[in-house]
Amino acid sequence: MKVIVLGSGIVGTSSAWFLKKQGHEVIVIDRQPGAAQETSFANGGQISVSHAEPWANPSAPMKVLKWLGKEDAPLLFRPRAEWLQWVWGLNFLRECTPGRTAENIRQIVAISEYSRLTLRSLREETGIQYDSLSKGILHFYTDQREFDISLPAAKLMRDLGCPRDSIDADEVVRREPALASIRDKIVGGDYTETDESGDVYQFTTGLADMAAAAGVQFQFNTTVTRLLSEGTGASAKITAVEIIDAAGRHKTLRADAFVVAMGSHSQTLLKPLGISLMIYPGKGYSATYQITNPELAPVVSLTDDGYKLVVSRLGDRLRVAGTCEINGYGRELNTARCEAITRRTRELFPGACDYENPVYWTGLRPLTPSNVPYIGKSRISNLYLNTGHGTLGWTMGAGSGRAIADIVSGLQPAVDFAFTGMERKTNKNLLLPA
Ligand SMILES: Cc1cc2nc3c(=O)[nH]c(=O)nc-3n(C[C@H](O)[C@H](O)[C@H](O)COP(=O)(O)OP(=O)(O)OC[C@H]3O[C@@H](n4cnc5c(N)ncnc54)[C@H](O)[C@@H]3O)c2cc1C
Repeated sequence: MKVIVLGSGIVGTSSAWFLKKQGHEVIVIDRQPGAAQETSFANGGQISVSHAEPWANPSAPMKVLKWLGKEDAPLLFRPRAEWLQWVWGLNFLRECTPGRTAENIRQIVAISEYSRLTLRSLREETGIQYDSLSKGILHFYTDQREFDISLPAAKLMRDLGCPRDSIDADEVVRREPALASIRDKIVGGDYTETDESGDVYQFTTGLADMAAAAGVQFQFNTTVTRLLSEGTGASAKITAVEIIDAAGRHKTLRADAFVVAMGSHSQTLLKPLGISLMIYPGKGYSATYQITNPELAPVVSLTDDGYKLVVSRLGDRLRVAGTCEINGYGRELNTARCEAITRRTRELFPGACDYENPVYWTGLRPLTPSNVPYIGKSRISNLYLNTGHGTLGWTMGAGSGRAIADIVSGLQPAVDFAFTGMERKTNKNLLLPA
């Protein structure tokens, strides 16, 4: 089959790789000059299967209210006169009940664990170097109440098969000595040794290069403007994608199947076809610092619960990322947010990095209210979805690509996940208990 993949972030590139492996002719289209230039460019770097709690959880509504209007709040909802934003917000609240949160965690853990295994085998097969570290993830708390709340979540993760240990403050510092300077503020933490970290940009561009060498055709600097369809109801199908190519010419490209992996922009593309995806952009920030004193910088990937920041060591750089603004598609930098990240990083790791020359970046997380992505079929027979990976697209990306390639090829992916448009079959070879 000829398959066109729309988008070359971590999700689209992984999809293309596995589709090619299944023997399809694959074309990838992206408006940027290369792969991974938007949200998959400078994220937090964590492969965090065991820290997969969605932002929509029972404690979220009160926190969001408390943070309204606070410029440096970890999660800031800026109300706009925009229908999608409000409907998305209401759906987010609906996902905050204990029952829905638990089911969402189950889904996220299932696809994330599958993805981590997929990433590991890709790493072995391809030899791609991406500053990866398999030193685990350590989530530390500076507020006793938040630590107490985390204990049942850690237990749920253990019940799902994730080795997430709750540990005291001394053990936190023993696991990551670079946290010694704030030892007196830490009240506890949890640690999972199986989690990993690495540079999503290096990995995705490495995989794109190898996919191109294997025959995948990448068309960069090419904007997707719409999908053309024919027929109605069960006989509806996509015939072609309309693009503006690198030379500025409008063209249409025909194919047998289309995979939408355009992150936050998937929603806009599919709306005219009557497919309403509940995806809203969640603008996040990262800062990258050159490490000047390696022994003072952490090697274990960290989550600073109080400030909702993640920290990953990427070779001789330290990447610190986090915060979220629910405020449309703009990617401008907010100075208050950038400075808050540097202030906190300097406090955590004094003397470790060159804090005078940070490289700031923003990206739009393609957020569904539940943080469970859309992977699978749409109601148009040859149109497939691989989008809405929210806060965990690096964690879930490789496995999502492998799963969608199976689905396009008419196979059942080897993971028990609620794929869209498909009957949920419990697979005997599941990697995790249902
Ligand atoms: C601050 C921050 C920190 C994060 N930290 C982590 C983390 O530690 N761990 C983790 O697992 N995840 C993390 N994430 C989330 C993760 O980065 C995303 O979920 C993931 O990158 C989404 O990948 P994607 O391929 O779906 O989207 P993208 O990478 O955005 O790819 C979509 C592609 O579609 C293209 N495109 C869009 N519109 C068009 C169009 N009209 N025509 C042609 N091309 C188009 C874009 O150019 C882009 O290349 C973080 C995100 C942010 C913002």
